[in-house]
Amino acid sequence: MKPVMRNLPPKFVWISLGVEGGINESNLNAYLLAPYQSSDFICLDAGTLFAGLQVAANNGCFHDIPMQDQPDQCVESVVLKSHVKAYLISHSFLDHLHGLVSVSPNDTPKPIIGLPETIDGIRDSIFNWVSWPNMGNEGKNPVGQYQYQRLSEGRRTPIENTSMHVEALSLAHSNSADSAAFLIDHDGHYVLYMGDTGPDEVEQRTTTEDLWKRIAPLIRENRLHMITIEASFVDSHPEELLFGHLTPKWILKSFRKLALMVEPNQPQQALAGLKVVIAHIKPCLLASKPDNTRQIIEQQLASHNDLGIHFILVSQGTRLEF
Ligand SMILES: [Zn+2]
Repeated sequence: MKPVMRNLPPKFVWISLGVEGGINESNLNAYLLAPYQSSDFICLDAGTLFAGLQVAANNGCFHDIPMQDQPDQCVESVVLKSHVKAYLISHSFLDHLHGLVSVSPNDTPKPIIGLPETIDGIRDSIFNWVSWPNMGNEGKNPVGQYQYQRLSEGRRTPIENTSMHVEALSLAHSNSADSAAFLIDHDGHYVLYMGDTGPDEVEQRTTTEDLWKRIAPLIRENRLHMITIEASFVDSHPEELLFGHLTPKWILKSFRKLALMVEPNQPQQALAGLKVVIAHIKPCLLASKPDNTRQIIEQQLASHNDLGIHFILVSQGTRLEF
C-alpha cells in the first residue's frame, strides 16, 4: 500500500485570534475559518476577539478585505461586523467566551452555534442581565442580537451566510462538563476543530475514539485538511490534575489509535503529513524565568511523534491556508 499523499491544494483560510488556554485575557482560544479565497468567516470559540483581530490586522492577515466603501472604519471592526458570520462555541467556559461578551455591544446580529448544553449555559449564565445584558434571543428581556442555534449531535447542518456545514460531536472535559468537536466541511473537504478534552482513559469515556471513527474515512480519502487539538499541559503535569485536558504524550497515544483505524496494516504511514494545530496551551507563571511551556510542548510533541504528523504551533495573529 502506498503512503497517503497529503499535498492537498488549499481549501480553507485559518487565522488565529487567540491561542492560549489561560492567564492572558488578550490571547485566549479563538480562530477564524473561511473557505479558501473567501472572507466569510466563522469564529471557532471566542476567548479573545478584538485584541486578536488587532494583532491579526497588524500582521496583514486581512489584506484581502476590501476597505474602499468604509473609509472611517478600521479593518478589525469591518471583519468583526461584516465578515464574522457566526460563532461556534465548544463549551460555555469563560476562556472560550470572554471576547464575544466584550465585543457584543459593537457586534452585528449573527448566530451563536453549539451543542444544546453550551447554548443553554450561555443563555443562563452569561447573557442573562446578571453577568451581562441579554444579547441573546431567549431568556429574560432578550436584546436579540445573537440567535441561538442548537446542533443535534452528529447531524450535518448548514452555517448560514457561509458555504460551510458543521457537524458537532461531544467531547469529555472533566467529570462535570462536556465540550464539543466541530467537523466543518466545504466543497467536500473537511477541518476538525476540537474543544477542550481529556484522554478517554482518564475521562473513562470513549468520546475521542468515537470522533476518530467518524474522521478515519475522511483521512483515508485525503479529505481532512487539518485537525486542531488542545495541549494544555506539559507531560510532567500530574495525571490527577489534568481536569479534562491533554498533554503531548496523551495526544500521541490517541493519534496512534486513530492511525490504526485509518490504515490497520500500515499505521506508521496513516497520518504522515497530516496538519495538526496545537491550541489552548496554558502558560506557566514562574517568577524566576520567562514562560517556556510552548517550547517544551513543541519539543515533547516532536520527540513522541513516530507518525510523521505535521504539528503546527502558531502565535496569535497567524494566517494559514491549507
Ligand atoms: Zn478552555
